[in-house]
Amino acid sequence: MSMDGRTCVITGSAKGIGRGIAEYLGEEGANVVINYRSSEGEAYEAVDAIESAGGSAVTAQADVSDRAAVENMVEVCHEAFGPADVLVNNAGITADKQFTEMSPEEWNRVMDVNLGGMFNCTQLFYDDLWNAQEGRLINISSVVGKQGNYGQANYAAAKSGMFGFTRTIALELAKGGSTANCVAPGFTATDMLESVPDKVLDRIIAGIPLERLAEVEDIASVVRFLASEDSSYVTGEVIDVNGGMDL
Ligand code: NAP
Repeated sequence: MSMDGRTCVITGSAKGIGRGIAEYLGEEGANVVINYRSSEGEAYEAVDAIESAGGSAVTAQADVSDRAAVENMVEVCHEAFGPADVLVNNAGITADKQFTEMSPEEWNRVMDVNLGGMFNCTQLFYDDLWNAQEGRLINISSVVGKQGNYGQANYAAAKSGMFGFTRTIALELAKGGSTANCVAPGFTATDMLESVPDKVLDRIIAGIPLERLAEVEDIASVVRFLASEDSSYVTGEVIDVNGGMDL
């Protein structure tokens, strides 16, 4: 198995894209840390699913925007499996509003989780990734970071911010032999799209050359490649997984 014995921390992995990533890496033999903020039941289900497939997993409750909570998650990881080899910064939120109506709180909340959470987790796991035999940092951005999206000035700014962050960390990690990359999913069938009205979803799908939303597995399989040894010479990249939305 390609991830045998590698320790992988995936933020926000009780459900959605993070859960798909966690299960794929677990099936490949990784030791998986399932981070959740509020979805405790789903987090334990994810552990069961990974263990049933022959892998190992533990849960770690932490709001990634809370530095002390992330410090605690690092301890959970070290106690269960030792240092992390792979960190996937997947946890993310939206707080959509047309820009003129957007409150400072809605702006700050999205920055605190999507960028602040990435900062906290990357910094607190940095030594692990640096010291790992080919450590991997993978940040889950969005097509919205490239294209913008009506009502998502906060989210688009945060997701664009991940590109520059990833390229910079790629440069800083490179001397130690570890890599950092971004995955930019297109619209993916998860709870995050639940609040999008059907009419708007139909319009979105009509604009996707492959004529469908992404499934969680479409994103997870690309992350699995980036997390594996097969991607040794790929660093500082943004990999689009969006059904051709940029064409
Ligand atoms: P989702 O189903 O809503 O899942 C988001 C996850 O993030 C949840 O498991 C949630 O944990 C976790 N989370 C949120 N705030 C957190 C915090 N402060 N601390 C720790 N965990 C937190 O959404 P998804 O679609 O899977 O999104 C995953 C990532 O993909 C996000 O970064 C999102 O921006 C990105 N993305 C999604 C799409 C899409 O169309 N779905 C497209 C492009 C990019 P709890 O449930 O435990 O609270």
